Amino acid sequence: HSEALPQIAALDALDRAHLIHPVAPWRMHEARGPNILTGAQGIWLTDGRGHQLLDAFAGLWCVNVGYGQESVVQAAAEQMRKLPYATGYFHFSSEPAIRLADKLVQITPASLQHVYLTLGGSESIDAAVRFIVQYYNAIGKPGKKHFIALERGYHGSSSTGAGLTALPVFHRGFDLPLPTQHYIPSPNPYRAANPGDDQAIIDASVAALKAKVAELGADSVAAFFCEPIQGSGGVIVPPQGWLKAMREAARALDILFVVDEVITGFGRTGPMFACDAEGVDPDLMTVAKGLTSGYVPMGATLMSDKVYAAIADGAPKGAPIGHGATYSAHPVSAAVALEVLRLYEEGVLVNGQSVAPVFAQGLDDLMAHPLVGDSRHRGLLGALELVSNKASKAGFDAALDLPGRMAATSYRNGIVFRAFGDNILGFAPALTFTESDFGLMFERLKRTLDDVL
Ligand code: PLP
Repeated sequence: HSEALPQIAALDALDRAHLIHPVAPWRMHEARGPNILTGAQGIWLTDGRGHQLLDAFAGLWCVNVGYGQESVVQAAAEQMRKLPYATGYFHFSSEPAIRLADKLVQITPASLQHVYLTLGGSESIDAAVRFIVQYYNAIGKPGKKHFIALERGYHGSSSTGAGLTALPVFHRGFDLPLPTQHYIPSPNPYRAANPGDDQAIIDASVAALKAKVAELGADSVAAFFCEPIQGSGGVIVPPQGWLKAMREAARALDILFVVDEVITGFGRTGPMFACDAEGVDPDLMTVAKGLTSGYVPMGATLMSDKVYAAIADGAPKGAPIGHGATYSAHPVSAAVALEVLRLYEEGVLVNGQSVAPVFAQGLDDLMAHPLVGDSRHRGLLGALELVSNKASKAGFDAALDLPGRMAATSYRNGIVFRAFGDNILGFAPALTFTESDFGLMFERLKRTLDDVL
């Protein structure tokens, strides 16, 4: 119901001239121009032309509590009035940061006791890598410096994290991966040799991790990083039990187990964390996105007391551990996170769990569509994989640019989701979706699939 922005043409020109967009083809963007968003409420986005879009992707899988939560706005405003900034450097602190660290320790797996508050997911990964290097130097095992991650994994785009990320576009032209970064195959049930055999998929991942550690030498490997469900790699949902099996394998191999819950955390897959579903106790965990529901930037790196104590005691007496940023533990972000966590506990998490079967059914029903080869989901994280031949699972000629056409067509149909490069459509609706919101979402999604057919 909103008006088109009168200055939309001028903004469009200024964007093309000056604003560098994350993970965008720069020249193509200059030619194409931006989709300028001007407002949001509930599950709805409004663009600069007054067009309303149903957001089936919670921004960038982050706005788990939906748009327009007034209590979150209030929490930010009050904190800004009271204490808009407090450094966490040296020995300064602030109440929201302290309460948030305590709260995160309470709600994350029991193995995690210490919290470093960051600016987002990429910095959380980067901090985890730096702390792990400190840890092994501190315990007198300086040879353990190699990192193993999953093919198709995404761990942000910091200069170290982008190398743990296995998506080629984050490496090309950046001299990545580093010689210390290695990958094992992704546990992909749809593309597995025996798709129905969950145990074989789990066994293959465990065997691959063991083989990679043997190849590099047990004394050389620091850690295994993984997402419980790979997000940007195409929402790859491994069988139940996979995460637990990988955790046990890492323990047996004497390497640290780092779970990246930047997408899967805060109710996205059902429980508060994906680790909870399998009783997994990681050595380190990274979170962001749902922590603040995207209202302001913040992430966190959590670690066990064993890792923390080794780093703390490994430094020369009184010497600082040289890692930090001006905005670490920002009090406004922490105040927002505390309010967002309160909303999850007040009912948003339970709502997400109760509507998850509606989401799952809507995706599964689309298996009847001629373009859809696979439907996969856990909680409110899901994907459809489009194929040209359901029996052979063959994709589409890249020249067809199906993802590009899907993105453009869905926008016209008033729905936003993610169209990945290999014909995978990703969905991550806010945990506040109702049954009727899903009705509208699937109506628009089906129309979009029909339109591109
Ligand atoms: N890790 C995972 C699993 C992610 O999905 C992302 C972002 O999508 C990141 C890390 C990086 O987080 P950020 O974009 O907040 O830097």
